[in-house]
Amino acid sequence: MSSLTEFATRKLAGLEDRGLRRRLYETDRFSDTHVRRAGRELISFCCNDYLNLSHHPQVIAAANAATERYGTGSGGSRLISGNTPLLAELENRLARFKGTEAAMVFGSGYLANIGIIPCLAGPGDLILMDELNHACMHGGAQLSRAAVRPYNHVDMRHLEELLKQLRTGHEHCLIITDGVFSMDGNIAPIERLTALASQYDAWLMTDDAHGLGVLAEGRGSGIVGGHHADIPLQMGTLSKAIGAYGGYLCASRPVIDLIRNRARSFVYSTGLPPAMAAASIKALELIEQDKALCARPVENASRFCTALNLRAPETPIVPLILGEADRVMTASAALEDRGYLVTGIRPPTVPDGTARLRFTFTASHTHGEIDGLVSTIRDLDLAA
Ligand SMILES: *Cc1c(COP(=O)(O)O)cnc(C)c1O
Repeated sequence: MSSLTEFATRKLAGLEDRGLRRRLYETDRFSDTHVRRAGRELISFCCNDYLNLSHHPQVIAAANAATERYGTGSGGSRLISGNTPLLAELENRLARFKGTEAAMVFGSGYLANIGIIPCLAGPGDLILMDELNHACMHGGAQLSRAAVRPYNHVDMRHLEELLKQLRTGHEHCLIITDGVFSMDGNIAPIERLTALASQYDAWLMTDDAHGLGVLAEGRGSGIVGGHHADIPLQMGTLSKAIGAYGGYLCASRPVIDLIRNRARSFVYSTGLPPAMAAASIKALELIEQDKALCARPVENASRFCTALNLRAPETPIVPLILGEADRVMTASAALEDRGYLVTGIRPPTVPDGTARLRFTFTASHTHGEIDGLVSTIRDLDLAA
């Protein structure tokens, strides 16, 4: 065995020992909420396609038409030859929807975060971020070479302490938070964050991956009390409620122009495929038109939580924390045996000892499907 293969084999055995080895399972998502795995049909409660728009006939038709007209790939970085016609329309629509001057799209949400953050903070600067932020914000922060200090989850007192202690020793300060925490489903205290950012001259950046399309009539976590909160950097993804693929940033015109010039994941990566731009434009149009559709994922999560006596959900994400990884994987397998797909979430995606089932509810889940899931969870004694 070569030393490389030996290295990989040993590392995998270590993951296996700790119940942390991950595997890929082919998942044929053939309708809004149903998938086929290993020949079996399952109802999926772990998909981020909150509005089921990836299967909407009008969205599919728009993607197909764009592929026919412009081809499958964009053929280059947008700064070379890949700036295909639909991208400007998509960016204008995103900016309008988020109430900012300008917007730009990236190849994915992950690429957006690892591109944006190092453009705005570097050596001598300070990044303060919620400890439960998504992995790609940690990745972007590390790439920036700024001083990075996590604050306790949604703990605004801790954040203010760090600002008091550290702000004056650094030139610029970026505060970064998930708008909706992806593994817990709670919403960041946006109002407090905007106030602290303003008081300490820090730049607030939110990641609205799980807010767009499902909160505030679809407009996302940046809306507080019916108005756009003062968030100068609003990042998000086209890969969840929009049902396509790609990432975006909404900000002022100069900030967008700077990031178009400097973000390495934008400059040195191929432009979004035309089909993804077209699908996203159509999806945004549907979101703007149909407020009832946008409300449905949270309504469905509420039905589930009420039935199981869980805390009322703020978003379509409902975690059921079981503790150890093994226990979660056993629970997930038991649900699958009974026809439900609910993936277990383990460290390092979540902190040690907080492995969980993470349920996500979409607009198309029926009351019957939700009630069936509830009684199965009761039978399995999972929500005790
Ligand atoms: C999914 C997710 C991302 C990554 O977006 P992709 O488009 O899937 O790369 C970023 N941030 C958060 C909070 C997410 O949940």
